[in-house]
Amino acid sequence: MRNLTSDAQLVIGSYEERELGEAEVLRRVDRYLCEVETRRLMIWNSQGERWYQTLTELCRRHQVEAHLWYPVLSDRAGSVHQILVTSALGHRGYGSLGRWEGLGCADETFLFSCPEHGDDRMQAAGEIITLLGRYDFSGVFLDRIRYPSPANGLEMLFCCYCERCSALAGQHEQDRGREAVDLMVDLCRSGWTGGWDEFVHLSGLTTLIERRYRAIADVVNTIALAIDRSRYTVGLDLFSPALAPLVGQSYRELSRLCDWIKAMTYTHAIGPAGLPLELHSLARALVSSDSAIAMAQALRWTEALLGVELESPDLLTEQIERAIEAVDGSCELLCGIELVDHPLFPTRIGADQAEELVEQVANSAINPIACWNLLYIPRQNYRFLAQRL
Ligand SMILES: [Zn+2]
Repeated sequence: MRNLTSDAQLVIGSYEERELGEAEVLRRVDRYLCEVETRRLMIWNSQGERWYQTLTELCRRHQVEAHLWYPVLSDRAGSVHQILVTSALGHRGYGSLGRWEGLGCADETFLFSCPEHGDDRMQAAGEIITLLGRYDFSGVFLDRIRYPSPANGLEMLFCCYCERCSALAGQHEQDRGREAVDLMVDLCRSGWTGGWDEFVHLSGLTTLIERRYRAIADVVNTIALAIDRSRYTVGLDLFSPALAPLVGQSYRELSRLCDWIKAMTYTHAIGPAGLPLELHSLARALVSSDSAIAMAQALRWTEALLGVELESPDLLTEQIERAIEAVDGSCELLCGIELVDHPLFPTRIGADQAEELVEQVANSAINPIACWNLLYIPRQNYRFLAQRL
């Protein structure tokens, strides 16, 4: 095992403002930064700019780089004209099959704008540039650069068919889009086991899926080009490699547009992007579509589709290795490990799990980001990280 360099993430939302307040937030951040030597701190803040001032000053005192953590396609305050992603069956933003009931329980809605037609990316770039200039940030960390995941409902995996996308797609592709969910259910029932790329080929949706990869890369490229890269770095928050193709993220393509990538290698988290939640959402969608499909069968089918085994003790290591291969040295790669006991999401990482996660990262070739809100990482969890630095 080797020594690690550690980054961290901090969220200031309405819950933190209301339940903790400034003094308690600052006490927790200060204690964490005193005990865990940290290189970068990513700051998500929806509670007013005074927080940026206070937190960037705190980072400077600890000699930690502050980075603006910025959601692009969903949950961005001040997004002016939002065209929600739309399924071929007409669902806007959320589908129904397998949708996670916890969506919207915190500040985040996970309602996504259409990356091709519904995003005001120049407005986002302008706001990022303003905030980078106004506070002592070293870079920006772009989040929510994707299409909806299974947690939003299975139908949303094959969007977008908003009015403007539909006008470009043509009737044939729209028909394939409408049939994709039924095809998935048929293949699961029949015992077909293949990977995502094979499924895309069978579904006749290759054009759509390639267009989605391109649309996400275009959003990132537009923002990255607008930023002064001689002064600021651009980092990306990407789904774990098993899930990334489902949401339009190509590690290979995106790694050429940024300075660093964090893979959300969440092997325990119950929340969007967490491998357990996303696979269970997809499996539940299949079960609810056909009473002949049992949950165990649906889960096995989903694991084969995405090339993962949820119960594998090496799940984190495997996802890290897939990310390393996909990035292929084009940019720095980090892995997110969830260490929280979270009051809003049902993710409770105990000390044993935290120790195991840190050990797996220490045995890999890349460095960790402590996720996803350091305010809720128990001291007993982050001390394993501190011991490895
Ligand atoms: Zn669209």
